[in-house]
Order: sequence, then C-alpha cells, then structure tokens
Amino acid sequence: MRFSGFRVLSEALKGHSGWKPLWRNPDPQPFYDYVIVGGGGHGLATAYYLAKTFRQSRIAVLEKGWLGSGNVGRNTTVIRSNYLLPGNGPFYEFSLKLWEGLEQELNFNSMVSQRGVIYLFHSDWQRDAYRRRANSMALAGADARLLSREDLKAMLPFLNYDNARFPIHGGFMQPRAGTARHDAVAWGYARGADLYGVDLIQNCEVTGFRIVDGNIRGVETSRGFIGANKVGVAVAGSSSRVMAMAGMRLPIESHVLQAFVTEGLKPIIPCVIMFGAGHFYISQSDKGGLVFCGEIDGYNSYAQRGNLPMVEDVCEGAMAVMPMIGRVRLLRQWGGVMDMSMDGSPIIDRTGIEGLYFNGGWCVGGFKATPASGHAFAHLLATDTPHETARAYRLDRFARGYLIDESGAGAQPNLQ
Ligand SMILES: Cc1cc2nc3c(=O)[nH]c(=O)nc-3n(C[C@H](O)[C@H](O)[C@H](O)COP(=O)(O)OP(=O)(O)OC[C@H]3O[C@@H](n4cnc5c(N)ncnc54)[C@H](O)[C@@H]3O)c2cc1C
Repeated sequence: MRFSGFRVLSEALKGHSGWKPLWRNPDPQPFYDYVIVGGGGHGLATAYYLAKTFRQSRIAVLEKGWLGSGNVGRNTTVIRSNYLLPGNGPFYEFSLKLWEGLEQELNFNSMVSQRGVIYLFHSDWQRDAYRRRANSMALAGADARLLSREDLKAMLPFLNYDNARFPIHGGFMQPRAGTARHDAVAWGYARGADLYGVDLIQNCEVTGFRIVDGNIRGVETSRGFIGANKVGVAVAGSSSRVMAMAGMRLPIESHVLQAFVTEGLKPIIPCVIMFGAGHFYISQSDKGGLVFCGEIDGYNSYAQRGNLPMVEDVCEGAMAVMPMIGRVRLLRQWGGVMDMSMDGSPIIDRTGIEGLYFNGGWCVGGFKATPASGHAFAHLLATDTPHETARAYRLDRFARGYLIDESGAGAQPNLQ
C-alpha cells in the first residue's frame, strides 16, 4: 500500500475503508539468518537497510514490548550533525543526509522539519569553542553559522538577553538541523522492513543467548528458542543487562532522561534553542506544545521515570533563558533510560563472540543517529566490515585509550 495525497482523497471518498495495518504480526520462525534484538529506531532501521540496501533475507526483529515503546518514542525529536570530532562528524552528517531523503525513501510522513538548531553562547570562550566547531563541521561537509546578539534578537525576541548570570552574547546555528516525529520514524522503518519481508515480532523478550564454542547459535526468548546465524543487539537503555546475558560487561551506565510537553500554544518558537549555560533545550511541536528537556539524573537507574529535583533543575534553566515559560501549563512529562557510554560516543562493533554484534552507547543523542546507525549496523552485519563513517565506534577503544570524548567530560557519564 503506497501513501500519497491521491490515496488520502480516494480513501476519504470510500469512508476510509481501505487502509491496512502498517505491518504483519507473524509468529516467530524457528530459524533466521539475522535476528535483531530491540524494536526501537536503531533495530528497525537496521532490519530495513539489511533487507533493502544489503539484499539480505530471513530477518527478524524481536521486541520485548511493542514497536517504538522505548526511547525512540520518548525523545525530544532533535536531529542535527553539529559535531566537533572527526570520529563523529562524518557519521552524523551521513545521518542528516539520510534524514533529508527519509520520507521519500520510506514513503511515510515522519514530519522531518529542517527548522534549524541554535546553541546560545554566554561567554567569549564559548563563542570561540563554537567557532572551532563550525570550522570542523565545514571540513566534514556540514553547514554552520555564527549569529550575533542582534541576529538572535530579530529571530527570538522573547529570550532573556540580559540575565545577570547568563547574558546571551550570540548563537551558533545549524540551519539544516531540526526535528522529526519520533514514533513515526519507528513506524516508517517498521513498515518499510515489513514490506521487504522482515518478521517484526512484538511481545518477545530475549532472555538469553545460546553460544556454543564461542559462536552464536540463537537466542532464548519468552516465546521459545529462535536460531540465528547472526544476532545484532540494539536495545539502548537495556544494553548492559542484555549483553550481560552473553557474559559481557560493557563500558556503559544507564541513567534516566526526562522530557516535558506544555499545553498547545500559537507558533512562537521557530527552531530548536539550546541554552548554553545549563542543560535545557526547547522546541515547539507541530501541535503547538513546547517540548523541552534537560540533564540526565545523576544516579544509575533502569526506571522509565525521573525524579522531582531534576524537574526543578530543568525549570530553573528554562526560567533563566526564557522567563515567559513560567506562565505556561505543563501537560506531560516522562523518562527514558539512556545507555551512557564512558566517552559519550556510541559503539557499533562485533563482539568477542562470533556472530554476535552490538549497537549501543547512544547516550542522550541517538535519535538523530537512527538512519546512519541502522545503515552502518546493517553494513557490519552483512559484510563483517565497519561502515566507513562508523569506523571509530569500536568497542576496544576504551581499552586502547582512543576515546571520542565530544564533550570533554572524561569517563563521567553524568556529565556527558
Ligand atoms: C527524554 C529523552 C529525550 C531525548 N532527546 C533526544 C533528541 O532530541 N535527539 C536525539 O538524537 N536523541 C534523543 N534522545 C535519545 C534517543 O531517544 C535514544 O538514543 C535512541 O532512541 C536509542 O535508540 P533506539 O531508538 O533503538 O532505542 P529504543 O527505542 O529504546 O529501542 C530499544 C528497544 O529494545 C527493546 N528491548 C530491551 N531489552 C530487550 C530484550 N531483552 N528483548 C527484546 N527487546 C528488548 C526495548 O523494549 C526497546 O523497544 C532522547 C532520549 C530521551 C529519553
């Protein structure tokens, strides 16, 4: 079933009787060539590119809940490629290019909106750091602009430019960055994968790995044993728990990140705004709600809910940069479990177990990576070689000391 304006019109005339479910609901087969664990954005994208781009077959995605029930449906939808380090820049730029063609590729409205992302700077050293980042981005083929205080005032007159502690001196913008509707990305990839014959199996929790003489043979699940030649794990906040079942201890801690949505307002915020003096950022959804987020909780947790001190911290940041937000009513708030790696950068690699592959450590920024991560993980699974943009994301970099410490916070996940 193809989606188009014509299709919407013709369905309207038929009382919308012709729409079909977006994907099948198959029972698991006893054996697959590829089993992907985790039906989030990364797992679904991996299955899609494995089937479509790398022309592999007999693929299943196993999801313990429903598709998109994890972080892919809980994030604040920001997509961007404004990274500094060579290990990250080309990968995220590859991802942004895939975002730019994603809706046509999937024939699915994922509401990709290149409305721009602006980072505010509040000091001279911060401006210099952003200038350096803009130059690094230009070298990686990405777009970046520095904005003066006057430029910003014309675009965002409601910000608090003269806050005594955090005066706004200017901004660093990526115009091609923006937002995408998070769960529609999961649905689009799921539908695309299903069309290429991938079995999407929900309510199927992986409870163990069958490993014989260092080779993967398949996975134990809540719906019985499923054999596989290759198993790719992409379970985000559950990474350390799932890989522990294969006897692996990862350089990853899990922390909760919370998001907030207000009542709907008339259009006021034209882009994504990042406060540069605290972890607070905000955009406005197409429905009108202000969507904002802050810092991760400082302690480890697998609970999909956050705590009140962090709510207060986020609101303090909001009030410092945008005082008018104090008059808006909060509608919803939720949490998701982040797989925080020790250098803040991800892992897409083989493991010491033949046939077992790992994708994780996305920290607070894996949504924007979804297309490139799926593509690169599919490349690795299909060819046993890393994708050219993901070569740096090796698991052994933590042992070898080749860290990709984008934020310069060191092995301190709660500061990444
Ligand atoms: C509040 C919040 C705001 C965020 N904002 C942004 C943002 O603006 N931009 C950005 O780029 N990133 C953002 N992120 C991060 C981003 O959402 C994640 O990095 C990314 O979604 C993780 O990849 P995923 O989509 O595959 O994860 P998930 O959707 O979590 O997928 C993993 C899946 O694995 C399943 N699973 C776990 N264990 C098992 C098992 N044993 N068996 C089978 N299945 C299992 C889970 O149920 C889950 O569905 C945010 C996250 C949160 C929580």
